[in-house]
Amino acid sequence: MIGQQYLLLPGPTPIPDRVLQAMNRPMINHRGPEFRDMLNGVTGGVKGIYGTKENLLIYPSSGTGVLEASVVNFISPGDRVLALSIGVFGDRFATIAQNFGAEVEKISFKWGEAVDPNLVQEIIQKDKNKQIKVVLITHNETSTGAYNDIKAVKQAMYDHPALLMVDCVSGLGALEFKMDEWGVDVALSGSQKAFMIPPGLGFMAFSDRALDTHKKNTNHRYYWDVTAGLNYLEKGQTAFTPAISLIYGLQEALVMMAEEGLDNIINRHRNYRDMVRQALRELGLEFLASDRHASTALTAVLAPGGSGANLIRGKMLDRFNIALAGGQLNLDDVMFRIGHLGYVRELDLLAVIAALEIIMLESGFKVELGAGVNKAQKYILALNTKD
Ligand SMILES: *Cc1c(COP(=O)(O)O)cnc(C)c1O
Repeated sequence: MIGQQYLLLPGPTPIPDRVLQAMNRPMINHRGPEFRDMLNGVTGGVKGIYGTKENLLIYPSSGTGVLEASVVNFISPGDRVLALSIGVFGDRFATIAQNFGAEVEKISFKWGEAVDPNLVQEIIQKDKNKQIKVVLITHNETSTGAYNDIKAVKQAMYDHPALLMVDCVSGLGALEFKMDEWGVDVALSGSQKAFMIPPGLGFMAFSDRALDTHKKNTNHRYYWDVTAGLNYLEKGQTAFTPAISLIYGLQEALVMMAEEGLDNIINRHRNYRDMVRQALRELGLEFLASDRHASTALTAVLAPGGSGANLIRGKMLDRFNIALAGGQLNLDDVMFRIGHLGYVRELDLLAVIAALEIIMLESGFKVELGAGVNKAQKYILALNTKD
């Protein structure tokens, strides 16, 4: 008997029962009044999570779909694009822009680190003729467990007119993000990370300034065309058939997020990060990302001795039904990733730390049973006295 899986991936993430039940409803007419009210409600709710009063469209799509949607709507072939990459997803955004005809200059930073705003400032200041049309960046780099200071990067751009487009698929709802306040033009997200609903919805928020660019855009598009999307949204509809069941789920998830409060959600994720890092350090484990850039959505843990992460993951799954993510590309087997975003509780993390101690001991690593759990328990106790 192993019971329900402990799903600790950086997406898909666990689904609350309330959300599962909300989705278990009959279909309705997506061109009728009931859907209109629901769409208007969830559009407002997701805007609230973004911190924007500007435009938002919801698509049936994975996260990558809306990355592509942002490229075809806001980047024209031949546009100069500055792509800032700190990992797999930063690279992906750059590749999509390239595939749709942009002249991409990609600046890569060491994996585990964040974009250096000073370097951005240097590049931007050299662009006297304002040739750079768009800057691409990842909010939370899921492949490395590091995050970027989007506010600082925007400040480093001063009054340069380039659009700032941010992949916040795994960051939104887990890390602080303030689209309007920070001056972000386009921000992409998805359902299966911090939103606590299954994969299948993509969110695209964009400023009116981005919309002006869109009107002059020459890239090919049809399904993703934001003009069509906005025209339908005015009637309380989507241009094409929406993922109605997922929108039922989104509606309930937004209620849960409002009950908890966005600031509390962001704090909770920060506490998870600190608790996990402190506990695993007691076991002698190290991380790909330094403390300074460590994401609150997930922790990328280096395998002791440089390899064997997949063995640990395999045993965690076989023995305890705990699903952890592996490393991507050349980080395969070098590290494993613990997702702690969305519907994850302290208790889940305590359980994972306890299980990891057993598996590591069984695998021949020197760990003191209870050392990590003890640290985590103390962390939780200290939190409760602080409140
Ligand atoms: C999950 C994720 C995506 C999108 O992945 P899909 O598999 O297409 O949903 C994009 N960017 C980041 C940073 C992500 O974490």
